[in-house]
Amino acid sequence: MSLPAWPPKTSDAQLASLLNEASTYALAHGFTLLPPHPASGAPPAPTHAIAAPLSLFPTPFPRAEYTRARGIQRLYNALYARIALDWAFLDGIFEEVAKVDEFQKELWTRWRAVREELQRVQPLQLGIFRSDYLLHATGKETAIKQVEFNTIASSFGALSQKAGELHRYLAASGSFFDAAPELADATAYPDNKSLGNIAAGLADAWKAYGNPNAIVLVVTQDGERNIFDQRALQYELQATHGIKSIRHTFAELDVLAKHGGDKQALLVPNPLTPNEAPAEVAVIYYRAAYTPNDYTTGKEWDTRVFLERSAAIKCPSLALQLAGAKKVQQILAAPGQLEEFLLNPSRPDVGFGTGAGTLKQADIDALRETFTGLWPLDDSELGKEAQQLAKSHPERFVLKPQREGGGNNIYRGDIPPYLANLDAESRPGEAPKREGYILMELITPPEDVHNWLVRGGEGKPRLADVVSELGVYGVALFGDAKTVVNKEAGTLLRTKGRESDEGGVAIGISSIDSPLLV
Ligand code: ADP
Ligand code: MG
Ligand code: MG
Repeated sequence: MSLPAWPPKTSDAQLASLLNEASTYALAHGFTLLPPHPASGAPPAPTHAIAAPLSLFPTPFPRAEYTRARGIQRLYNALYARIALDWAFLDGIFEEVAKVDEFQKELWTRWRAVREELQRVQPLQLGIFRSDYLLHATGKETAIKQVEFNTIASSFGALSQKAGELHRYLAASGSFFDAAPELADATAYPDNKSLGNIAAGLADAWKAYGNPNAIVLVVTQDGERNIFDQRALQYELQATHGIKSIRHTFAELDVLAKHGGDKQALLVPNPLTPNEAPAEVAVIYYRAAYTPNDYTTGKEWDTRVFLERSAAIKCPSLALQLAGAKKVQQILAAPGQLEEFLLNPSRPDVGFGTGAGTLKQADIDALRETFTGLWPLDDSELGKEAQQLAKSHPERFVLKPQREGGGNNIYRGDIPPYLANLDAESRPGEAPKREGYILMELITPPEDVHNWLVRGGEGKPRLADVVSELGVYGVALFGDAKTVVNKEAGTLLRTKGRESDEGGVAIGISSIDSPLLV
């Protein structure tokens, strides 16, 4: 299929007016980020915001692929929930990864130390996931291929819903000047309630915890600029579900967090009510803890473990965080793995019932169709093949370490010297460092799609050749026999200039966009 010529033509005056409409809507509705912090000193108290990076027009996206991505999300939720419940599977993977990756080693070792205790104290786990896709265009076909599956701090659920609302508003208010017939089709703007759905997922876990006075604890990073995305979830929790929430960094929790009572409740003083007894935490929602930078003093690991050992429901648990590793994604691509997790009748119920026949080969095929080439970089046959391919055809690949948060991958021509360097650094008799990486085939998005991107805080749009990454959110609450939530929870579209390999919204490269279904 072909996408319409994009963006539609606009005069300078129309463009200026559209920019004005979009920017004021964004500022008025909390489609915002904090401005960059001053170069030195502690981050100041928030006094003003800038619009989050946006696209003036929604970006065309094939309707069938959009529908397909949403349609398989509950299967992905079930898959990753079952992975998190399979200790032997995770141990088998991380025993190896731990030899070459200090951060994963910490996560895995800490998880092993607490998991049996946790089974008694709090078997439930909450996943707020985001499965990310790029369109892969080959000749006549254009189909979604999975980039990665995020299990921790899956962000932009709130800003994404607002981006969709922004584009709907621009359409309804006439701000698009009848510029293209596609923009006039009301069904082209998908219904996306990612903010409401993610907050509802947190509320589901809060309810399962069972204490009406308990709160949600959001674990945050120092100096976070994407606070309005997080705050919108907190406001929604309060307004729609009547649930209080508070925010703390690891450093603050190191001092404030206590365990109380025989069920190992997590108690944290509520800064809004300092004279009252500390609040009991029903759900710990991590918007931190996914990068080594969140553990710089080493003390944070003890704080993390202290939180993990409590009766609060963790979003995500350490097991879910491990399950989100790129190494797991690569291993799932091996023959038989999906079948084992989704068809084996002895696996626990994670939203599709239990026993034989609840899921079918067609479900497996639907997931596998979204995979692209994934290789290990170990000394197995497949690993050797990958090393060969990376040398002979580096332009076809991206090399990925076990990291989250963007900016960590190595692309194309940079791969061979990077691998050579890793091998030079590896000591004989020890596991080669390359084993901490996976090799992935590059997905090649449709060419010749453009849009006007507006960088946060800048008054001028930039006409860019763009690539859009679709994220589908999912919510899964699981771990005991009676509580199972498994929901698809809306979408995100991030649009970046084609020249940039990575697309970080926070670092100003991607815009938060919405799809125009065509
Ligand atoms: P992270 O967990 O750091 O976000 P990703 O796997 O999502 O890591 O990679 C970061 C970015 O790199 C993606 O958003 C995408 O723009 C680009 N990227 C990753 N894998 C591929 C791929 N196979 N083909 C094309 N681009 C990719
Ligand atoms: Mg990620
Ligand atoms: Mg990513």
